[in-house]
Amino acid sequence: MSDPFEDFLRQRGLPQWGKDDPRALQVRARGKAQQRDRTDRTDRKITPPACPVCGGSMVLRTAQKGAKAGSRFWGCAGYPACKGTRPVAG
Ligand SMILES: [Zn+2]
Repeated sequence: MSDPFEDFLRQRGLPQWGKDDPRALQVRARGKAQQRDRTDRTDRKITPPACPVCGGSMVLRTAQKGAKAGSRFWGCAGYPACKGTRPVAG
């Protein structure tokens, strides 16, 4: 009687570790961690819009006060000289 997991390893020329072997668990954990890293990098890739007032670059800010306190918005990098803002899309 053959274990389907052992057949899987044999077909690919992988080490004959048991599926509960600590080394096999490490390899699988590393693979999952790398997938998470790739997702995070994609999520951080946001292109800042241009300021509607001066056309300069904008930075992501969090409202400190008012009705929208705690919500995120784009604020002009030239603040306080320029008070241009934009809502964050999505
Ligand atoms: Zn501006």
